[in-house]
Amino acid sequence: MAVSWSSPVSVVGGKNYSKIIKATGVETVGDLLGIYPRRYVPKGTLSELEELNEGDLLSLVGEVVSSVQKTYQDRRTHRTAYRLEVRVRAEDGSLLLTYFDKHKSTADWRAESELPRGAVGVFSGRLKWFNNQWQLTNPASRMYGAGDDLAEMPDLIPLYASVAGVTTWQFEDTIRLALDLVQEIPEVLPAEVREAEDLIEAGPALRWIHRPDTWAQKVSAEKRLKYDEAFVTQTVLARRRAAIEGTRANPRPGAPGGLLDRFDERLPFTLTDGQRAVAEEISGELGLGHPMHRLLQGEVGSGKTVVALRAMLQVVDSGGQAALLAPTEVLAQQHQRSITAMLGDLASGGFLGGAEGATRVALLTGSLNAVARRQALAEAAGGEAGIVIGTHALLEDKVQFADLGLVVVDEQHRFGVEQRAALSTKAGTPPHVLVMTATPIPRTVAMTVFGDLDTSTLTELPAGRGEVQTTVVPILARPEWLERAWERVREEVAQGRQAYVVCARIDPDELDPDKPEARPLRAVEEVAPDLSHGALQGLRIEMLHGRLPPDEKDRVMKSFAAGEVDVLVSTTVIEVGVDVPNATVMVILDADRFGVSQLHQLRGRIGRGGHSGLCLLVSGADPVSASMERLVAVAGTRDGFELSRIDLEQRREGNVLGIEQSGGRSALKLLSVLRDEEVIERARAAATAHLATDPGLSALPALAEAVRWLEQSEQADFLDMT
Ligand code: ADP
Ligand code: MG
Repeated sequence: MAVSWSSPVSVVGGKNYSKIIKATGVETVGDLLGIYPRRYVPKGTLSELEELNEGDLLSLVGEVVSSVQKTYQDRRTHRTAYRLEVRVRAEDGSLLLTYFDKHKSTADWRAESELPRGAVGVFSGRLKWFNNQWQLTNPASRMYGAGDDLAEMPDLIPLYASVAGVTTWQFEDTIRLALDLVQEIPEVLPAEVREAEDLIEAGPALRWIHRPDTWAQKVSAEKRLKYDEAFVTQTVLARRRAAIEGTRANPRPGAPGGLLDRFDERLPFTLTDGQRAVAEEISGELGLGHPMHRLLQGEVGSGKTVVALRAMLQVVDSGGQAALLAPTEVLAQQHQRSITAMLGDLASGGFLGGAEGATRVALLTGSLNAVARRQALAEAAGGEAGIVIGTHALLEDKVQFADLGLVVVDEQHRFGVEQRAALSTKAGTPPHVLVMTATPIPRTVAMTVFGDLDTSTLTELPAGRGEVQTTVVPILARPEWLERAWERVREEVAQGRQAYVVCARIDPDELDPDKPEARPLRAVEEVAPDLSHGALQGLRIEMLHGRLPPDEKDRVMKSFAAGEVDVLVSTTVIEVGVDVPNATVMVILDADRFGVSQLHQLRGRIGRGGHSGLCLLVSGADPVSASMERLVAVAGTRDGFELSRIDLEQRREGNVLGIEQSGGRSALKLLSVLRDEEVIERARAAATAHLATDPGLSALPALAEAVRWLEQSEQADFLDMT
């Protein structure tokens, strides 16, 4: 029977295919062959020993030159136990392996059948320094047949990541069978692209990624397959861009003398050059007949809201409405307050004293009471509200608009593509979309993740911003610094300023879900009373967290903004967007529990007025640890791009994209969106060009199939956002 790429894995046969199907979810031969080795063991690896440390993983190919069974008394059970000491000779040296066994039968089998003198195999385990020499204890091993000779073994042995009990050898065997059977390996690259990129063909690439004879083969296979991944994802994105360009939208060019012009006249500050340039770009695009899809990235505090507000006003001046989607209730409420304040009588449409042609700003969150909710819904549906601000409650079916012309999504890293799409369907014709994020995204990630959006960036902060100094308070090494931290809070408050204290959790009784046994994290409900009775006695302290009733949240935020509260003890609900310029100090407790970008966001809440700020990262983490290093990195730079790179590099690539990489089929296995910038860029150009010549992808069925699969899989989401 002919075995093709799309044949079921069962045609491969062998002992382990059904186990592999269960463990990884692979369905076709193509899926199976898409599980690539994680590493390769070269025959000579012992020369590296000097550079390795205790605990490092070492794999080697070698021949057993001696094998000695010893017995000893197990200290716990007082029974006789067995130790097999095996010396293995590799091409460039030899190493001791030690195997421990409890039962005579396994110990004898190991000594006589598995690891007799002369046996050849691959061994893999963690290095240990013992009795003045390196050794591996109970390494995983795979032995070759009796007649196998070390000299004839391939120079590189592939090692697959073991998944749910399937060992590397079981993958290797099954994949070897599949490679021998499969008739044709599909070609996803146009010939001219392959030649221009100097890539090998798909067939040898796939064979060599699994069974390279030489390192050079492995390298060229990887180069080719990596490019494939970039090309397929970029084709998906190019198709999306083409679809957007082919879609019609209502142009919203604005109106001279309208709300926007009147707003500009009363703006209490001048826009920065960056704000002006981005605003112009957006304004032009809103006037076009196809939808704008723009990502606005800007450092924390760079003034994105006013740019968005100007766009919203232009749309209102053109007879349309704008929706502003915020990730949290606190932020939605704050936007409503500050936008209403900035607009003044321009936002009092229909009310006595409203300016002529004024509009309204409606707020729609999940927790409104019935009356307020009904009114907001009516104003959105009737068109009285030119601007509707809300949380995910805006996405519900009941919410309708008279003429939705613009969707603004604030702090996009909290919203996925589905939400964006859900809002867009509420418009008669596709709306313009402006997505904002303060978590700067490296260019390559933006190109992959936001490949269907055009990007603008605000790099400068408005003039007159204070400096924010960040200091790590390592309480294990410097316990007395914590006292000093609270003293600094008191000093700032004495100057009329305000402070945030951020905790990792709400309730002291809650266990840390990630590490139930770890040192307990400080909680809002415990820290606030502690401070009131202790270090910050006499100051006005309030609590804010997600579990408070919405009215209470609103009240607390309002009184903090009004300066009636000195210290706000909160969770990360204040992480994004919150804007209280008089706040100058922030103490983050258990700072090691927050991500790099999160810390950067958090400290963006202070130093927003003219005063300089101080951010204290309090941590009980080991002074010499990766966690502490991260905190020092955050303290060391205020460049959000730099920090977001550090952040992304510390996560697994799949998490960057929001994909669970659990075996099965995955779109990005070799390509790194962080490191392969050039490849992605070239593939993007090539994919766009190829799509122009073959919009239906009919010339390359394999490419069409790969693109269709990706578009339909959940993984398509990663191409938008996590
Ligand atoms: P972010 O980009 O982090 O969302 P905001 O839009 O909240 O920042 O702006 C932060 C603060 O800076 C707000 O109080 C806003 O009114 C103010 N602001 C915005 N643009 C300017 C400017 N050009 N000059 C002075 N202040 C500005
Ligand atoms: Mg903001």
